[in-house]
This record gives sequence, C-alpha cells and structure tokens, in this order.
Amino acid sequence: MTKRTQSKKYIYAFGGGKAEGNESMKNLLGGKGANLAEMAGHPKLKLPVPPGFTITTEVCNYFSKHNRHYPVGFTGQLTLAIKKLEQLSDKKFADFSNPLLLSIRSGARRSMPGMMETILNVGLNDDIVKGMIEQSGDMHFAYEAYRRLIIMYADVVLEKAAGIDTLLNGYGKGVRKFLEDKMDRYREKHGYRDHHHYTLREHKELIKLLKIIIHKTLGQKFPDDPWQQLWGGIQAVFASWNGKRAVEYRKIEHIPDEWGTAVNVQVMVYGNMGEDSCTGVGFTRNPATGENKFYGEYLVNAQGEDVVAGIRTPAPVNKFSANAQSKDLITLDKKMPKLYRQLNKYQQQLERHYKDMQDIEFTIEKGVLYMLQCRTGKRNGEAAVRMAVDMFKEKMIDAKTAVMRVSPEQITSMLLPMLNPAGERAAQIIAKGLPAGPGGASGRIAFTSSDAVQQVAAGGQVVLVREETSPEDVQGMHAANAILTTKGGMTSHAALVARGWGKCCIVGCGDITINSKEKQIITQDGLTLKEGDYISLNGTKGIVYAGALPLMQKAIEKNKSFSTFMKMVTSFAGIEVRANAETKEDAIKALSFGAKGIGLFRTEHIFYGKGSEAPLLAMQKMICSRTPAERQKALNELFPFMKKDMRQILEIMQGYPVTIRLLDPPLHEFLPHDEGKINLLSEQTGLPADVIQQQIQLLRETNPMLGHRGVRLAISYPEITRMQAKAIFEATAELIVKKKNILPEIMIPVTIDQHELDHQKKIILDVYQEVCKQYKLSKIPFHFGTMIETPRAALLANQLAPHTDFFSFGTNDLTQMTMGFSRDDIGSFLPGYIKENIIPSDPFAHIDEPGVGQLIKIAVDKGKKANRKLEIGVCGEHAGDPESIHFFAGSGVDYLSCSPYRVPVALLAAAQEGIKY
Ligand code: ADP
Ligand code: MG
Ligand code: MG
Repeated sequence: MTKRTQSKKYIYAFGGGKAEGNESMKNLLGGKGANLAEMAGHPKLKLPVPPGFTITTEVCNYFSKHNRHYPVGFTGQLTLAIKKLEQLSDKKFADFSNPLLLSIRSGARRSMPGMMETILNVGLNDDIVKGMIEQSGDMHFAYEAYRRLIIMYADVVLEKAAGIDTLLNGYGKGVRKFLEDKMDRYREKHGYRDHHHYTLREHKELIKLLKIIIHKTLGQKFPDDPWQQLWGGIQAVFASWNGKRAVEYRKIEHIPDEWGTAVNVQVMVYGNMGEDSCTGVGFTRNPATGENKFYGEYLVNAQGEDVVAGIRTPAPVNKFSANAQSKDLITLDKKMPKLYRQLNKYQQQLERHYKDMQDIEFTIEKGVLYMLQCRTGKRNGEAAVRMAVDMFKEKMIDAKTAVMRVSPEQITSMLLPMLNPAGERAAQIIAKGLPAGPGGASGRIAFTSSDAVQQVAAGGQVVLVREETSPEDVQGMHAANAILTTKGGMTSHAALVARGWGKCCIVGCGDITINSKEKQIITQDGLTLKEGDYISLNGTKGIVYAGALPLMQKAIEKNKSFSTFMKMVTSFAGIEVRANAETKEDAIKALSFGAKGIGLFRTEHIFYGKGSEAPLLAMQKMICSRTPAERQKALNELFPFMKKDMRQILEIMQGYPVTIRLLDPPLHEFLPHDEGKINLLSEQTGLPADVIQQQIQLLRETNPMLGHRGVRLAISYPEITRMQAKAIFEATAELIVKKKNILPEIMIPVTIDQHELDHQKKIILDVYQEVCKQYKLSKIPFHFGTMIETPRAALLANQLAPHTDFFSFGTNDLTQMTMGFSRDDIGSFLPGYIKENIIPSDPFAHIDEPGVGQLIKIAVDKGKKANRKLEIGVCGEHAGDPESIHFFAGSGVDYLSCSPYRVPVALLAAAQEGIKY
C-alpha cells in the first residue's frame, strides 16, 4: 500500500490582511519576505501590501544542490499560490482580458542592497499587452511596462543568470545597454522627446526590434509564455545567488553561502499611472544624522526602481528631507497631503513595531497607497549613536539594546578623519554633490572598480569616480578611500553601500561630467582632471576639491550623543581598556575616551619627531662610545630627558598605571645612514667619522627583527636599564612626595626566558634601593613585568610568571614570530593566501585564533596558575580590533591597550561581549 506523503511547505502567502509567515522567519523567508508577511499580516499592522507569496530559502538550497531542479511538490504549490493571487486581486495570470502581472523579487536573510535582481511586470506578451491597455486605458503605459519587462528579463534572466559576464571593460556593455541604446535611437529617429508619443504601430515595431536584439545578442528568444517567464524569473533569482557578484559581496560581508535566498512573487502596483501616482523610499529617521524626522524621496509618475537608479532627481517627501538639489521640488505632503498623512502614520507604526529605524518602499497607484518593503535601515555611525541614545531616552529600547545597536565599525567611522578646515578654505572647490557618506578622504581618481582594486593593491590611495555604481563595483568601492558618483540620490546604490561601510561618499554630483573614453572628468567650470589626479572629498557637506587636502580628526568630544553613549558603554564594559600613548596629547585624549591607564609607553619615542634632536644626539653618542666610561657619560646626558618625559606622562595619568617599556628597537635605527649626517654627527660628538662608520657597519644585521633588540640590548648594556630605571624611580619619587597616586609598571620587551628577567630585575632593584635612600622613602610603588611576544615566552609562561607582576601580549611580534611572517613583507604573498582561503584574513589585523590565539591561551593559563596575582594585558594592534576583542574577552586577559582613537571602539566591543554572555 502506498502512503501519500504531504510534501513540505515551500510557499508562504501574504496579502488581504493575512500572512502565513512573519518577521521571525527570516531564515526561511529571507528578510524581505518575512517583513512583507509581518506588514501584511500582523494584527497590529495589516498594512496595504500588494498580495504575494514567498518561496523559501530551502528551495534555493535544493536548487543549488540538485543541478537547478526543484523539490517534489513545488510545482503544485506554485500553481495553487498563483490561483490564490488571482482570487485576491480579481485578475488572471496569463489571461488576455484581465491580466494579472507580477513582480519577482529576491530577498536573502540579510539585506544586500541591489545585489539580487528584481523583475517587474512579469506576465506580458504581444496579446496580453492589449488586455492591459483595455484595463488601464493607457497604451503608452502598457507598452512602457512591456518594454521594461523585456529589458529586465533579457538582462537578468537571459544574460546574467545564464552566466554571461557583462563586464567587458568595467562599464557593463551587456544586452541591457544595447536595448536602451536601441530605444533612444528609435525615439530620436521618430523625432519624439519621450516614448509617450508613439502610434500603436510604432510601439509594436519597437517591441519587435528589441526582441530581435535579444535574439541576436544572446542567441535566445524572449519567452512569450507568462508561465515560462515566471519560472525563468524564479530560476534567475536562485541562480544569481551563486553569481560572481553575489559571491564577492558575501565574501566581503562574511555572509555564509548556505543561507540561500528566498523569492518573492507579488502582484504589481503602478506608480507610473499618471500625476496621481508615484513611488518612493523613506527612512523613519534621518539615516545620516539620526534626527527623529521622517526622511524620504519620491518620484511622481514613476515605477519602483526609478528612485534608486537616480535617473531623475527625486523630490523630498517633506521639508526635512530636502537637500540642495531637491529643495525647490514639491514635497509629497504638499502634493498629496492625505496620502502623506497615511504614509506618515504607517512609518510611525512600523518604527514602534520594530523598535528600530526602518527603511521603507512605497508606491501610490492612482491615489491608493501600497507598502512594498520594510527593513531595518542602514545608517552611519553618527546616526546610529544618536538613534540609540534617543530611542533609549524615548523608552523604546533598554540600555543593553542601545549599546548593542551601534557597531564598533560605526564608532570607528565616527572617529574617521575629516578634511582640515583650513586646508578646505584654501582649496579649489570643483563641484558639489549630495553628502552620502560623512568624513573626509582624498586619493587619485580611478574610473573602474578593477582599476581601483589594482591601484590600492599597489599601495595607492584611490577615489572611485562613477556615473552611478552597481553591484559590479562593490570590490572597487570597498578598496577605495571614497566614492564619487555624478548621478543618483541619497538612496542610490552608492549611497546605501557607502553608508553601510561608513565610507566617505558623495553622490549625484552633476557638476562633473565623466568622459570615460579619455579617462577624464570635466567640471562645470571647464576644468579637466585625468585618471590618477588627486581629488579630495568632504563627504559631510558634499564638496569636491582638486588636489590632496590634509586630513584631521574630528572633535568627537563635542558630540553630546556620543558622550552619553560612551557612558552607557562604559557601564557594561567587562575588560578594562588602556591606551598605547607616549605624548601628552595622546594621554589626555585617551583619558577623555575612558582609558584606565597606559598599557604601552614606548620609551624610544623621545628619539623621534619634535624636540628629539638633543636626546637623539646623546643616544647616538652612547651607541658610538668606545669605552664604558664614554657610554656612561653619554647616558648621563640622556638621563634628564628620559626622566622629564616619564615624569610628565606619570603625572598626567595619576591614579592609573603606566606601563613603561624599556628600550626595544635595534640600535642601528638611531644612527644616520647618509654621509652628510654622519659627518655632522662626527662634528657634534668629536668622534672621527670613520669610527662612526665602523660602528654602523658593526650594528648592521641581516634580520634586525630577530636581532640585537629588546632585552638582548639590555643584557649587553646593563647601564641602559640602570639609566631608565633611575629615571622612572626618581620621577615617581618626586611625584609621590607631592602626594600623587602614581604607578609605573616596568616592562621588559622580547623576553624568551626567566633568566633574562632575573638579570634585569636585579639591576632594577639595585637602582630602586638607591633612589629610595636618596629620597628618604621606605618604598616607591612599581610593578615589574614582561611582554610576551615570543612563542618561547608564551610556552614557558609558568616559569616567567613567578618573577613578574604582569604579562602584556605584544601580539604584533608574537604573530610575526609564530607564523614566521614578516609584517613588512606580507604584501607579496598574503593576498594570495587569503584568495586561496588558506588563511581567512590578515593575521596582523585579526588575531590568528588557532595558532597565535592558542599560544595566548597557553600563556594565560600557565601564567595565572603559577602566579595567582598575575595581571595580563594585550598591547598589540589587535587590542583595538573588534573581531580580536571577541577572542580576548573569552581568553582570560584582564585588559586591552590600544591607540587612543581605538579606545571607544575597544570599550564598545568589550561591552558588547559582556552583554552577549
Ligand atoms: P531591492 O532589494 O533592490 O530593493 P526590490 O525587490 O525591492 O529590490 O524591487 C526593486 C524595485 O521594484 C523597488 O523599487 C520596488 O519598489 C519595485 N517593486 C517590487 N515589487 C513591486 C510590485 N509588486 N509593484 C510595484 N513595484 C514593485
Ligand atoms: Mg527594495
Ligand atoms: Mg615588540
């Protein structure tokens, strides 16, 4: 006996005030499908969503795994689902007299702007278009819809999904372009301004011509059968999940391939049915500033995509949405006040429902409003912080949610540099556009995504300049410092992607014309700039300058939402955060950002930069000394500089620890290399030039990173340690005498063995005794510890720990020595390693968990077992990297120390780790 098994549910319907799915089903229905269901069916919403259904991501995965076949039972479910749409819409699919037309839309779990393709007006052919003319009473409208279907279908289904690469030279010379050119030529030939003047015969002829082009270009025919169109469309969406562009985008955004995409099939509504129709997009709050004002753009008599494509300048929905280009256009609240009020009510409802800023799409067809999409809106860092703080104050969300709402990347983008205002005032403005991504950036002009990628790989700084961007450009956009488009609005592809990445971006910059043949841009004033010329962008204001302008940091401290937000963050931060700082300015900055001490003070900084001449000369004398007596004399000269420097930083940081690392770099770094400077040094020191030359020769090393540096120097020249210890203790003594709470931590670099520590500790303790006596103090507070930056030190942590108060992982050197990768030379092979998926990412940016991470865990474990009071920190670049912080938080370290500008990022990442667990 055969048992009839019910096949699995592959299709979820929505519409008519009901929905089979809901917002929690994103994994199965994709983001768009789940939200359409929620808007259409949730009892508190029941918004007017055109009826439709969602084909699940399971079907996509089945399709990918089974050579483009569908699961058993799927066809039947699809037929039934269409029947249901026919009932709800009172129209018939593939019917001549009262045709039902559909949109086919992709939608993955997470929104990927523009990545997957949408096909509109599915269900038209030469016969059915007649029915549509009767239905709408508008021949031009019906034929426009038909042409749109033909173009989209040819582009998306017949070309892209079939795997034909459209990228000949970066400008996308595919079938779409041929078809659009043909339409332009046909129109010009007939002397019409637009397509709304054709006779019926001309409409028909144009359609025929377009179909011929498709056949000629792609060797395939446009299918006249609506069912074939439907199946082709569904297949195209599924196939495009594995298209080159989608795969690339997923790689950049770390989206797993197994997620798959859903397909949404939906009854068409038309924003292009005349002056009482329109289409638009909006955000429930301003996505650039975070201000709590409905923000949106719309186009009268236009179909969906036109707003995003940036062909016409969209009008603002209200006065809060106006910008320089749209300020004179009529707002929706003036043009259609009643519908605006309805839309405004819906957007408020949606935000309250989702408790987050929503990004919505709507269409008005002959005075009836439809909601076509809603999703959590992308926003830049400033807006994210302001919304989080505001929504918390409005009691919409709690403090934990607010802290989780802002990503560390968004904080990073807020701390991004901007153009120096003085530089801006002096510079030449060449154009103005829309400020789509804030901050400042400069770089050389590149016109294609691949050029940008190449030039950045070769170490260049690039601004990608395009008429408009499309998903094909994503890699170049990612590589570039900034993006500039001449077309497109604040909701164009370029704007959305840049906003998501916190990248400086200007869109709709119509003052500039691109001549892609000559690889030039021409400004309104006739100025011509070539590929490779520098330009600078002020993405906050939308201003473009010629030349490379200097950058500076924003005064973020003045942003009230930011300080409130950071206070909330600090109340959750689990791990303590300190700063790597040497200068007074950096230390003060670090404190203002909430750092609880300095985790790395590099003593050698006094030999670099401003005011370094005198101490550097003393250092050079020390290095060139021929006898211990000479060396001591030079060190005595150096001593007051060291002491003053340390005293300053200790005093600023009073109440907090300051970890002072003893001299680390190899000595040859301090000696001059050209003859002129050598002679000068000879004059200044009185040493013969050949003695200096000799010393330089002696110090030359084959592998300086593995050479005479760190504690090895201090073993060879104990008097250096003695001088530094004396500087630290005297500075501290003088401050504690003044009743200041001071805690220096003396840190030994590049250690491999406990005996090195014993050797150094003995010297330091001798000096300690002397200074105590000298200042008549019974004790001076200090800690003694070591960096862990060699694999041997990590493995022998149990032997090092009893001799120390603290460890600090120098993860840069530890990575270098564990992987055997020279940090300065990885450029030649690392890209290949990442491309071939041998390692997931640059190990100097994100900690290598399996290898370096394991050494850290071993060292923490052994170290803490051998010395229960041992304090452990991380002071490499990784300490400011959110991905790595995720790892550190779980590995038992007590604090992180990163550059002052990374402190807020590290605090946020640490707080979010704390909240998650
Ligand atoms: P994306 O993910 O790129 O936003 P969408 O699926 O939202 O793609 O569709 C692209 C455009 O087509 C949007 O502007 C949308 O409003 C429009 N559109 C999609 N479905 C319909 C429909 N049923 N009726 C009218 N316009 C639609
Ligand atoms: Mg959309
Ligand atoms: Mg080091």
